[in-house]
Amino acid sequence: MKKIVIIGGGIAGLAAAYRIQREISEGSPLECILVECGDRFGGKIATEKLDGFVIERGPDSFISQKPAAIQLCQQLGIGDHLVATNPETPNTYVYTGGKLVTMPDGLSLMIPTKFLPFALTPLFSFPGKIRMGLDLLIPRKVDTSDESLASFVRRRMGEEALRKMAEPMLAGIYASDPETMSIGSTFPMFVETERKYRSLILGMLARKKNMLLSASKRPKSNFSLFMTLKDGLGEMVDAVIKKSPDIQFQSGAGVKSIAGKEGDWSVQLDSGGEYKAQALILSTPAHITAPLLQSVTPKAAKLLEQIKYVSTATVTIAYKKTGFSHPLNGFGFVVPKCEGRSILACTWTSSKFPHRAPEGYVMLRCYLGGALQEDVAEKDEQTMVNLVRQDLQEIMSIKEEPVFCKVFHNRKSNVQYQVNHSERIDAIMHELQEGLFLAGSAYRGIGIPDCIQSGTQSAESAINLLLGKS
Ligand SMILES: Cc1cc2nc3c(=O)[nH]c(=O)nc-3n(C[C@H](O)[C@H](O)[C@H](O)COP(=O)(O)OP(=O)(O)OC[C@H]3O[C@@H](n4cnc5c(N)ncnc54)[C@H](O)[C@@H]3O)c2cc1C
Repeated sequence: MKKIVIIGGGIAGLAAAYRIQREISEGSPLECILVECGDRFGGKIATEKLDGFVIERGPDSFISQKPAAIQLCQQLGIGDHLVATNPETPNTYVYTGGKLVTMPDGLSLMIPTKFLPFALTPLFSFPGKIRMGLDLLIPRKVDTSDESLASFVRRRMGEEALRKMAEPMLAGIYASDPETMSIGSTFPMFVETERKYRSLILGMLARKKNMLLSASKRPKSNFSLFMTLKDGLGEMVDAVIKKSPDIQFQSGAGVKSIAGKEGDWSVQLDSGGEYKAQALILSTPAHITAPLLQSVTPKAAKLLEQIKYVSTATVTIAYKKTGFSHPLNGFGFVVPKCEGRSILACTWTSSKFPHRAPEGYVMLRCYLGGALQEDVAEKDEQTMVNLVRQDLQEIMSIKEEPVFCKVFHNRKSNVQYQVNHSERIDAIMHELQEGLFLAGSAYRGIGIPDCIQSGTQSAESAINLLLGKS
């Protein structure tokens, strides 16, 4: 019997475990144990239930264009629990110049694809719009080196597009500084569009046409761009464990160190226990994986240490619907840094996913911290609640007393893909010895579908190695 140890019970480790379970179910001679230092599984995914409210501590949904998360839910038998965003309130707002301005129709990841709404929007100044339009004329970048999101957007669409759109909308997803984050590792489609079409606007228009053509041939789907699960993303975590009866899931089992060499590894636990295995899948954050690999592959450990993480926090706040002064007619808003607010973004959760709050209540979730104002995410709970309530009063005129406020600190939780991230990851993977596999958000995608794909792929590589499959 060959043995695989998975270190870390976040979604990447769980996806790896489930892939190995499927192999065992088909009769393969494999044993697998997943060790997790915490007292629960799911890592960044953590759902709490409170009097009919479904509260997400970390992620609250995932993108449907990358199929891995939807496929996993379907394999686990919870596909019918998937829910789309509310089609009745699809607007998103940008807080600019002291007010909430609707994102103009036809803006595809900051690229205008409809002339009239773009020409009429008060979001950008007239010179800002002209500068964005110059994208139609600007030549493509000749060298293929990576660059920052800021440099890319400034070059193609100008400073205003960067400050009002790219920084809050795109860098915001990564809680990153646009001046240091890699465009190639975060939004590779922009780089490909420039290479293929030269102009982002022309490229997006061509892509949109192709998408409309292929959508007209496909059967109508109930999926929206963002999807979630009815009872929260924690459902996915519980379902993996339930559907993997041959995997040993061990919580409260922190890994202290790893020793051994090709195909003959041992894992020492903080508690003093030890596991021997032919393959290890490390799905811990890079700053934890680095010291674990120090004695067996120091070069990879040194490169892993260079991957930076920043802190964020979420404040979920609920109100009684009766007398609530704001219509919540949208999914929420983002705030550019130049507006000088504490909130980075606010999701109007009960409008975006109505089943998340019980009848008679509304719920909002504010996102704070990140690379541009990490100090805010380090503040104590009461200070953070005060900052959020002050921002909500000034931005949305909310003066009502909340029913509850829930603060979650996500300390050093958000990985930063800095310029040349992809080269660093290639170099790390190159250093790994036989039987060592890495999975998770530190490498080639931070979203839940990316982490599932990364866990599944590392499990497949481990299975192929141990069972001698090609
Ligand atoms: C606040 C926040 C909001 C987000 N929102 C979204 C979103 O809406 N949609 C989306 O797609 N993505 C979102 N993300 C990103 C996504 O949630 C993460 O990238 C993903 O969940 C990471 O999964 P993972 O398995 O790689 O790592 P983790 O979830 O970090 O799991 C790693 C696990 O390893 C364990 N561990 C650590 N050290 C040890 C040790 N020594 N021994 C054993 N176990 C150990 C940890 O306890 C943890 O359980 C968000 C992230 C954050 C922080």
